[in-house]
Amino acid sequence: MQKVRTRIAPSPTGDPHVGTAYIALFNRCFAKQHDGEFILRIEDTDQQRSTDRSEKDIFAALRWLGLDWNEGPDVGGAFGPYRQSERSDIYAEHCKLLLETGHSFHCFCSPERLNEVRAQQMADKAPLGYDGHCLRLSQEEIAEKLASGVEHVIRMRVPREGECKFTDMLRGDIEISWQQIDMQVLMKSDGLPTYHFANVVDDHLMQITHVIRGEEWINSTPKHLLLYQYFGWEAPTFCHLPLLRNPDKSKLSKRKNPTSINYYRDMGYLPEALVNYLGMMGWTMPDGREVFSVEEMTKAFDLLRVSLGGPVFDVEKLNWLNGKYIREQVSTEDFISLFAQWAFDAEKMKAIVPLLRDRVERFSDVVPLAGFFLAGLPEIDEQSFTHKQLEAAQMRKILQFTIWELERSDDLSRDGVEALCVRLAQFTEMKIRDFLFPLFVAMTGKAVSVSVIDAISIIGLDVTRARLRHAVTVLGGVSKKETKALEKQYRDLV
Ligand code: GLU
Repeated sequence: MQKVRTRIAPSPTGDPHVGTAYIALFNRCFAKQHDGEFILRIEDTDQQRSTDRSEKDIFAALRWLGLDWNEGPDVGGAFGPYRQSERSDIYAEHCKLLLETGHSFHCFCSPERLNEVRAQQMADKAPLGYDGHCLRLSQEEIAEKLASGVEHVIRMRVPREGECKFTDMLRGDIEISWQQIDMQVLMKSDGLPTYHFANVVDDHLMQITHVIRGEEWINSTPKHLLLYQYFGWEAPTFCHLPLLRNPDKSKLSKRKNPTSINYYRDMGYLPEALVNYLGMMGWTMPDGREVFSVEEMTKAFDLLRVSLGGPVFDVEKLNWLNGKYIREQVSTEDFISLFAQWAFDAEKMKAIVPLLRDRVERFSDVVPLAGFFLAGLPEIDEQSFTHKQLEAAQMRKILQFTIWELERSDDLSRDGVEALCVRLAQFTEMKIRDFLFPLFVAMTGKAVSVSVIDAISIIGLDVTRARLRHAVTVLGGVSKKETKALEKQYRDLV
């Protein structure tokens, strides 16, 4: 029998997401349970959005959770390279094959033309998508355009009639009409592949047997299956897991909940508890146990028992489980060493101590001054923000702009954060002192403390974001309307 091979294929375009870890966990359980292999592939075809920092964070976060992999960019393996940006030749070669067999075609349509087609389709309430214009070009016309260097992409042919039928391990038979499937771009004008093309070529070459991924990819599966068919390859088995949801059942988003694994690490959750909680997303142990390890889950795992009702990622429930771990699974000795590791991380201490040295007379002064470095959300209320000039709305704006700017920035060093605050203060026409006031309160819980710029840089994006957001809520929160207005002002700035 063919060896089971599963994979996780994150795009390194942001924080390491709890959703990535959830999909990784289920893929890993399935592979291990079948004595198979679990692979990590980095899908960095979007060169503008992919960053090294994000890739490193993904590796570190998954390892922290104990979700290691058999093959991947950092551990190697027989089917590499495992980073798509290093596989351009492979895609170019495969693209050529599809052009030769007529399954794909050159498209020279300009963005303006595509916009017009789209606008017309919307006006006609017709299905949106490419209208097949360049399929009608003669060989001579194509050769001529290519010779004169007209910018182009490669698209796949897609039938206009009938249905694509496939079976999903969890959902059974699925039918999607080809009408709804766009003639997907396979190669962009810069010669790089799109997600769909690279993903299929890689899954095949890496001998992936089961594609277990989030349900947002169901509608892409027909394109993928068609590509397998065009190449004459056997398609893997598909399984689309339910998406994680906020407690209000909307799709899990960082607007409503912290979604970065780094946040949970920095807030002092235990990795065993977080990964256990992710295991409760759509999965229950056959004996109903709520506390279980990855190994126990792997042993008992049965993909077909995953329930499709949208699993809710509820931080309150996670807090309960984490507390249970601390009470029941962590001995006093372990508590001491785990807490010390978390609280007195050497690098962090090296950054914090210079801020304190000149301000304390006794060690007993340290906690009142710097305890906020170790706290979650400071205890603040509206009174904490009392200020001579600034009104609540202005402070909400400062806080919100700072969140957006920090999220956009790839330099959270002390100087990077300072430059960012100075720029925002100038933009909002405020004195830097006033500008920093709400940040001080949000970050430290007090109006005066050690430098808030240093504090943001040391505490890091994830917990900073949570504190600033908490402060916005304390200051009355931003309505949808206010968010829209702020977004507009912010766009003018960037
Ligand atoms: N790169 C895709 C993502 O970021 C992978 C989707 C898939 O598993 O096919 O989710």
